[in-house]
Amino acid sequence: MNDVIELKHIIDAQPVKGRADEVYSIYNPATGKIIRRVQAASADDVRLAIEVAHERSEAWRAVTPSKRAQMLFNYRQLIIQHTDELAQLISQEHGKTIDDAKGEIARGLEVVEFCTAINNHLKSDFTAEVSSGIDSYNLRQPLGVCAGITPFNFPAMVPMWMYPVAIACGNTFVLKLSEKTPSCGLRLTELMYEAGLPAGVLNTLVGGKAAVDVLLQHPLVKAISFVGSTPVGESIYREASHHHKRVQALCGAKNHLVVMPDADLTQACDAILGAAYGSAGERCMAVSVVITVGDETAEQLIEQLAPKVQQLRVGAYHEKDVEMGPVVSQDSKNRIVDYIEQGVAQGATLKIDGRDTSVGKGFFLGGSLFDHVQPTMSIYLDEIFGPVLSIVRVKEYADALALINTHAYGNGAAIFTRDGDAARHFSMHVEAGMVGVNVPIPVPVAMHSFGGWKRSLFGSAAIHGMEGVRFYTRLKTVTTRWPSGIRQGAQFNFQGGKDA
Ligand code: NAD
Repeated sequence: MNDVIELKHIIDAQPVKGRADEVYSIYNPATGKIIRRVQAASADDVRLAIEVAHERSEAWRAVTPSKRAQMLFNYRQLIIQHTDELAQLISQEHGKTIDDAKGEIARGLEVVEFCTAINNHLKSDFTAEVSSGIDSYNLRQPLGVCAGITPFNFPAMVPMWMYPVAIACGNTFVLKLSEKTPSCGLRLTELMYEAGLPAGVLNTLVGGKAAVDVLLQHPLVKAISFVGSTPVGESIYREASHHHKRVQALCGAKNHLVVMPDADLTQACDAILGAAYGSAGERCMAVSVVITVGDETAEQLIEQLAPKVQQLRVGAYHEKDVEMGPVVSQDSKNRIVDYIEQGVAQGATLKIDGRDTSVGKGFFLGGSLFDHVQPTMSIYLDEIFGPVLSIVRVKEYADALALINTHAYGNGAAIFTRDGDAARHFSMHVEAGMVGVNVPIPVPVAMHSFGGWKRSLFGSAAIHGMEGVRFYTRLKTVTTRWPSGIRQGAQFNFQGGKDA
């Protein structure tokens, strides 16, 4: 009991105790024990964070982009120096392996690196002589206070999709972390201050719906970035839009991977194994459905895949050679087990049953593999967010494409094939925001942007890359004329460029 650490929020670069009644217990999913607690941020705490961020806004936007970039160069160095410590914080609270935690830190770091070139990204267009003696240019200006609400499953990478871009663009930021895995995001905030960020530019809180509602409704908050589940994201999108904010809400998924008859099945099998069961399936880009084209493809694939699923090395993040850690909570484990029961009850064939894998008292599950899954079953339709893979058999490529395109989600989709025509057709016609060809988890790198389609994203902007820069800035177009270019007399008619 005594070694449970109490976490604090960070407002104006200072640690602050939350004032809400609710206290969150943070578990180590590998042991099932509480390791940290945090008293939630109250509505007043969030208001204070927003007001501080607003007060610092004018001064921060006046800092030149190259000075902002200099701070981010320092930040990059600090993250590299602290990678082991950050990875420990992630794995202790999430359960993923240390190498996987380091992988997400590296992906977040790429966004920081992208932001060190903010000068270049904010470079504008200039057109001389849009009309006689008249020039036009574009500016991208910061919005003011922006806010981010992040999920439990990427405690480093997802926050880093947001605040480095927003802050590099000259905004101030209020970050609301997941109550399940907040320690890494709090430490990353401290490192921003060590890197030279002025106080109050990034304020980081842990809280629930009451805290989020303040962010969505407060008139000083100009933009909301959300990453999390679809029901929450959809309601956040509605509420924040109603309050005239920009919103990008990146949500749940059901990512399909098509295996064509000509695919290299060994390559496909290894790819599927990592993509379906890595991080215990708790990734928004995890592959949760494999569509096999032709029965022979299905038989051969399952023959290779099933023993590997059975033999997955499940254990705590710090144990040697572990491939898959626990799921994040007992609630998650119960929900996943419930889905497996539904799959069995609805008639799918449970080839590998991961329900009985127990490793100490943690929230462990083994990998589960279903064959003969039908598109009407709940294990096919819903996001399970656990180590459960469904195989759906179809006869033709066109059936596979039609299935994906009629699914409610459209985050990622992949095809495994040697046929360039099929791959190209798939890339052009599949209804998903991120597509892989012989790449199972096609997460775009930092200079590209991340975002799904359909019920995987509400709002029009994907996150990070140039989409992120556009999301966190407003376009202004300036048209100039100097005295030497002024024409005689008033003009009462609207002038086209060539007439003026
Ligand atoms: P979640 O929706 O439960 O929580 C996300 C955030 O919203 C957390 O900060 C949480 O505190 C807050 N929240 C929860 N309920 C709320 C409510 N009623 N009102 C206001 N705020 C609320 O999601 P999670 O379980 O933390 O994360 C897993 C989900 O996130 C999965 O659905 C996964 O697919 C999705 N995800 C999507 C992406 C993507 O880029 N599309 C990336 C990572 C995770």
